[in-house]
Amino acid sequence: MAVIRSSVESANDGRTEFPLSNLPFGVFRHPNASARIGVAIGDQILDLQAAAKDGLLTGLDEDITVSCEQDSLNALMSLGREGSRALRARLMEFLSEQSARSRVEPLLVPQTRVKMLLPVRVGDYTDFYASIYHATNVGRLFRPDNPLLPNYKYVPIGYHGRASSIVIAGVEIRRPCGQTKAPDATAPSLGPTRALDYELEVGFFVGRGNARGAPILISEAESHIFGMCLLNDWSARDIQAWEYQPLGPFLAKNFGTTISPWVVTMDALEPFRAPAFARPEGDPNPLPYLSADEDRLRGGIDLKLEVWLSTAKMRAEKAEPMRLSQGNLRDLYWTLAQMLTHHASNGCNLQPGDLLGTGTVSGASRDSLGCLLEITKRGAEPVELPNGETRKFLEDGDEVIFRGYCEREGHARIGFGECRGVVLPARNC
Ligand code: CA
Repeated sequence: MAVIRSSVESANDGRTEFPLSNLPFGVFRHPNASARIGVAIGDQILDLQAAAKDGLLTGLDEDITVSCEQDSLNALMSLGREGSRALRARLMEFLSEQSARSRVEPLLVPQTRVKMLLPVRVGDYTDFYASIYHATNVGRLFRPDNPLLPNYKYVPIGYHGRASSIVIAGVEIRRPCGQTKAPDATAPSLGPTRALDYELEVGFFVGRGNARGAPILISEAESHIFGMCLLNDWSARDIQAWEYQPLGPFLAKNFGTTISPWVVTMDALEPFRAPAFARPEGDPNPLPYLSADEDRLRGGIDLKLEVWLSTAKMRAEKAEPMRLSQGNLRDLYWTLAQMLTHHASNGCNLQPGDLLGTGTVSGASRDSLGCLLEITKRGAEPVELPNGETRKFLEDGDEVIFRGYCEREGHARIGFGECRGVVLPARNC
């Protein structure tokens, strides 16, 4: 299949994460200007408010035009897949016409000149636990004889996270204080976490929601998903170990969650769909409400994911970040559709802009583990960095960088941009 060229030259160089076939949505701000919606194209952003003013969106439903003039993606998300699909088709046509080049240019803003903002007002945030490798590895550290709990292969496990502390990539994360208790201590104490970790995850946003009391069929689940981003579920393992029973994660995780700025649509990911995880012989089939042929055949996404670390010392020495791991979203035991369907199966109403996290994406191999807890076996086997430093968990000044991209013969490579965050020292506890 021929890759269609854009009139924006930087979108055609084969290296960009944002070729014409990607067009992810985000919210940006020029210095001293208000927040606006744009799509990434090459190293530029197409300003959708300016595009609407220019008459470029004329003929599309008025709802779509109005949604492009907001300062968040929520209105566009509420229009469902059809809304963003019609808008993308229009933008793709416009950005591929070489004759429209002079009309395109005034609507472009270089990505280096703007600040990216949270693209969505997230009403609710839920984090799942969809990698069976992660669940098994973590379970083994805490319960060596019984790593995987008996509900795992039936229930897409999740917990309700905290929307207020979701931040855009680049915002620093302060080391949290919390209660911890060493195994040999008689009582817990309050102090900065000594086991700060990242979790490599993908976030997906709800587009059109469902009414309270009205579950979502698995066959319709994907029509409720707008698109995806990278997500870092920062976690304080020592706080988590002391607080997590019996109700699950709480203060160990709700102090900060970082997301990447661009929302890659499900339409852009279409060429990279893959079969769902193949359950090994002997595993139960999902219950019927979580089971559909289409989901089994195409419920996976071949999305490669990488974690990079740059310490303060490495940056001072002008050393490149070090890659800690590389994984793939295909390794998830549960599909996005199964997670979303399960979430709404009791009648819980999901709303446009709700954020669902997949849980840490870990694979079977040693180099595909999505957090330091697994990589260092809870600190027992520290990672050695090229400059002689070692890490059991994150230190102050460490920067964690996630990258994600899809590649397939005959298609332009598309990427997600970066999900970055630097760890700041704790405040006085
Ligand atoms: Ca998580």
